Amino acid sequence: MIKTLFLIFVSLSSLLIPTTQWGPIGHQAVAKISQDLISYSTQQAINKLIPDGNMTAVANWADEVRSLPAFKWSEPLHFINTPSWVCNYNRERDCYNEEGQYLMCVDGAIQNYTNRLLSNPQSDDLKFLIHFVGDIAQPLHCGFSEDRGGNTIHVDLLKKSTNLHAVWDSGIIENVINVNFGGNWLNWIQYLEYNFQPLGNITCDFKNGVCGQIWGDESTNLACEYAYVNVDGSKIVNGTHLTETYIQSRIKIINTQILKAALRLTFLLNEIFKN
Ligand SMILES: [Zn+2]
Repeated sequence: MIKTLFLIFVSLSSLLIPTTQWGPIGHQAVAKISQDLISYSTQQAINKLIPDGNMTAVANWADEVRSLPAFKWSEPLHFINTPSWVCNYNRERDCYNEEGQYLMCVDGAIQNYTNRLLSNPQSDDLKFLIHFVGDIAQPLHCGFSEDRGGNTIHVDLLKKSTNLHAVWDSGIIENVINVNFGGNWLNWIQYLEYNFQPLGNITCDFKNGVCGQIWGDESTNLACEYAYVNVDGSKIVNGTHLTETYIQSRIKIINTQILKAALRLTFLLNEIFKN
């Protein structure tokens, strides 16, 4: 495993990402790590669907188009919302868009795009799947309806005004790269890969669409335990100041979730394209 991960790092080091794009780095990290792990035949299939078969280059496409009128329907596919402090995800209860359409959430989207890629693969299907496997691993993409996954909880991260959702999308990662890794995101990725821990069972019954249920439930649990709660155990509310201690403890969760997402994506793509 160490050797494999070293090779991943070497190939990652050739990837240049402007530092102004820290927000999307989580998705790009998931896509790139996965790309280095997928089988040769999977890569061959992907080459036919996206330019140069480059998963990293399309990892944020779904976020780039979500606000366009033509893709407005895809907006609810980026997240799951649960009732406050229920701390589990239940597809039948939680996976709807605002119009009440069932499976219009990130769990349903993963099932849908997996099925589409299995039957008649199209470029957009692959781009959506790469992105949504990353989204569902971010705990606050599976947060509470009431605060829109932390979007309406205004906090200070160190001295910077932001919201809790953004803290988990990019704020923690950005700070850790600056403070611990000399501002170089590749150093962070290297650390991530060298500290690869056993991540539990990555596989799931994708043909019966249960993967998103399991992954969403895990993220909602993490949101309750780590994202919505400060290091002293108090609930994070409007005006909470988040310190370096919160960042350094929560980055461990983010690191694990990014690696899990990369392995889950690798599993799905290898299964989808194995024939
Ligand atoms: Zn997204």
